[in-house]
Formats: sequence, structure tokens, C-alpha cells
Amino acid sequence: MINKKLHCTAIVLAGGSGTRMQTKTDKQYLSLEGHPVLYYSLKCFEEYEKVQDIVLVCKEKDIPFCKDEIVERYGFQKVKYFAAAGAERYDSVYSGLRACDETDVVFIHDSARPFIEKSILDRALEAAVLYGACAVGMPSKDTVKIVNKEGIVVSTPPREEVWLVQTPQVFSYPLICQAHEKLREQDAMKGITDDAMVVEKTGMGKVAMVSGSYENIKLTTPDDLATAKRILETIRERNACRCRKENT
Ligand code: C5P
Repeated sequence: MINKKLHCTAIVLAGGSGTRMQTKTDKQYLSLEGHPVLYYSLKCFEEYEKVQDIVLVCKEKDIPFCKDEIVERYGFQKVKYFAAAGAERYDSVYSGLRACDETDVVFIHDSARPFIEKSILDRALEAAVLYGACAVGMPSKDTVKIVNKEGIVVSTPPREEVWLVQTPQVFSYPLICQAHEKLREQDAMKGITDDAMVVEKTGMGKVAMVSGSYENIKLTTPDDLATAKRILETIRERNACRCRKENT
């Protein structure tokens, strides 16, 4: 990517059903310390000076709710586009990509990960500019086993090579659009569970991996909500501590 002033867009995905959360309310709208889960990642991108606009992808029927109860209510100025979610995550991403106006770089982010921070976004953007594609993740603390359908261990990848992938994943906009189009033409989207895979599968470029954080969890099951509350408390204490230090 050329080193002009880049136009960056965040695509925030909020179109999932959260079946594994076992709640009536979709997980992105569940309340976390008084605010919907979706609020936290929108806030981070709203405050991130290198992102100019945000595409919010949600179920078509939820667009009025998101407009009134989230974007208007919290005064998010950068949420300029809404896109209808699709049946699969990759359909929602495609819908978000098509809703972008002229842009150079896209941050694709799961709203179910409320704990992103500026330093993660900076690292990811830098790598995406260098390589064209980047995923954030963290090294696996556990040994990982590849297991077949019968539950038998097939292999054990060397632990130092195993990273657990998170979002955001950040791409050159033309690259990720072309990669999506190519896989769609080949009818090869089935089994795509993250965005980096789209680039990997097409062989259209390298994907860099950079550190996210162990706090950048994805809310999936009911116990994740309790963990999220603890993480939020820790972040708030850390920020308060930073503020106190800066003021002394
Ligand atoms: O289901 P999963 O936890 O992998 O979803 C990851 C993110 O993708 C969530 O933020 C969810 O709202 C979003 N998603 C979506 N459209 C879908 C499925 C998931 O926007 N069809």
C-alpha cells in the first residue's frame, strides 16, 4: 500500500444470533456494566483517530434499533453506513465490504470482542500497510491437538507455532474485496471462519500475525459474561491508575 494518508474504515460485525450464549437477547446487545456489548468496540473505533468511518453490520430488522438506541444514543459520529447481515459470518463481512465507500484499509471486527484498544489497532494497521493483510492473535498457552472425527489425536503442532486468532483483522480494501470475489466465484466460502482465511485460501498474499491481547476475548458462552465483567474492572482500574500517575 502506498504511503499516502490512508482512508481507514472499520467494519463492525453485529449480525450473529448468539445461540451459544443461551439468551433471548443477541449477545452483542447484552448489557455489560450498563452498556450494550456492541457499544465498547464502536467506542474504541470512534475514538481511534486513524479510522475515518464505520460500517455497522447487523440483522436488517435491527437496523432501526442500532440507529436509535446505539448510534444516536451514544453519539457515534463515525457510524455512517449500515449493512444487512447475512446467514454466515463471511456473508456479513461481504455485505460490510460492499457498503464501504471509497477506502484504502478495512478493520474487520467482531462486536462480540469488546476489549480492543488503540495499541492493538496501531500494531494491526502497521502490519496491514506492510503486508496487505494482518490478523491479531495471541500465542497459545496450551498445547493444541488436531483431532479427527472419531476423537483420535492426529497430530500436535509445535506450540510455538500455534496462535489463537482474534479480531480485528486488517486488510488492504482492494485485496480483501478481490479475495472474497474470487472465493465466491469458486463457490469456496464454506468453512471460512475468519477473514485471514479468505486471503490464505486464494493465495493472494501473506497474512501477518501481530499480538492482540489475552483480554481481547470473544463473548460466546454464558460464563464469558462474568469473565468480561472482571476484565472491564481490571481495565478501568488500570486506566484510573494511569490517570493518577499522569496527574502527579
Ligand atoms: O458466531 P461468532 O461468535 O463466530 O460471531 C463472531 C462475530 O460475527 C459476532 O460479533 C457476530 O455478531 C458476527 N456475525 C455476523 N453475522 C453472522 C454471524 C456472526 O455479523 N451471520
